[in-house]
Amino acid sequence: MKLRVGMGFDVHPLEEGRNFYLGGVLLPGATRGAVGHSDADVLIHAICDALLGAANLRDIGFHFSNSDDRWKGMDSKFFLKEVTRMLDEKGWKISNVDCTVCLERPKVNPHIPDMKKALAPLMNISEDDVSIKATTNEKLGYVGREEGVCSYAVALI
Ligand SMILES: [Zn+2]
Repeated sequence: MKLRVGMGFDVHPLEEGRNFYLGGVLLPGATRGAVGHSDADVLIHAICDALLGAANLRDIGFHFSNSDDRWKGMDSKFFLKEVTRMLDEKGWKISNVDCTVCLERPKVNPHIPDMKKALAPLMNISEDDVSIKATTNEKLGYVGREEGVCSYAVALI
């Protein structure tokens, strides 16, 4: 059996008065939210790139271009479902994903169980195979200044 690993990284700016979608969940009480062509779910985008990378299927921008009106305001859960389908078509099964979100606030930790619950079925894996971690950037750089949010992910298929 062949195993392959992939990594993904994504970043989005944060703006006042925007909904904040993260890990397939709308973060309650967030005063700033991520901005992008789709719903700007940085965690899902990083996972998609990790999975696509593991299967050597290019990247999320290649399949879902941010200049394509079809994906404007799109729920990123759709992208993850599609990526899972693409892997399935090539005969790959997802083993596990591990992610880290870098965000100054709000606190991500209380929402991680809901994110795992939202994401696991999209990848046809159990919640135990979805690890989500969160860290602040110790007030350094664009994350520290609350100008943006970024996420890393690795996936084994
Ligand atoms: Zn993105």
